[in-house]
Amino acid sequence: MDWYKADLHIHSVLSPCGGLEMSPKNIMEKAQRAGISIIAVTDHNSMANCIVYEQKALEYKINYIYGVEIQTAEEIHLVALFDDKNEAMTFDKELYNVLLPIKNNPDYFGDQVVVNKDENIVRFEDKALINSITWTLDQTISRLRNYNTFVFPAHVDTEAFSIIGQLGFIPDNLNFDAFGITAQCDIDEFLSKYSYLKSLPLIRNSDAHYLNQIGAGYTRFYIEKPTLSEIRFACQKMGHRKHVI
Ligand SMILES: [Zn+2]
Ligand SMILES: [Zn+2]
Repeated sequence: MDWYKADLHIHSVLSPCGGLEMSPKNIMEKAQRAGISIIAVTDHNSMANCIVYEQKALEYKINYIYGVEIQTAEEIHLVALFDDKNEAMTFDKELYNVLLPIKNNPDYFGDQVVVNKDENIVRFEDKALINSITWTLDQTISRLRNYNTFVFPAHVDTEAFSIIGQLGFIPDNLNFDAFGITAQCDIDEFLSKYSYLKSLPLIRNSDAHYLNQIGAGYTRFYIEKPTLSEIRFACQKMGHRKHVI
């Protein structure tokens, strides 16, 4: 067993609200300097950049997990991570089909850039990724359960686009694998408000949209190897696995 520092919620140049500086090389360089050894690039409602970012992560000897930040019909942000790359890309197609058919307005929201391994722009994604999909929270979870996924509601300590902000509570029938908190979250203060989360696995991530945010939020996992299934076991405290935020 060994300790691994993980950031499982980072945005690439594809996310309209993110910086153009979030290129594969820049992200991996910054992550490496911050000691991050497991990374998931989780853009809004699309995994169009995952393959290229995975290639760059390999060059930097950073373990890469496929993922996406989904915005459900209730405007709740969920991060879904995938054990298997092919399953991830299959789900990505499903997701694209249920994303509202609204064109992106780059002047207002920013460009949605798909890049190749040489960091050149391949295309601009037309459909606005910042919108919701047509699936509700329940529908999204049940679709995701057709895959090997690790699902956690994102930034539960914030008001905007979080499950607590939108619903006022966390339904207890959805079997989330973990609960995401922000880099800024004061855990004691947060848990004093939501004491029912005390026994549940919280994981901290950067949710970085700009380079200088990488390294600000992470979770350390004590696991056998740097895989998503080991992270799942750590969240369940299986064997001697554990995690620290
Ligand atoms: Zn979010
Ligand atoms: Zn995010």
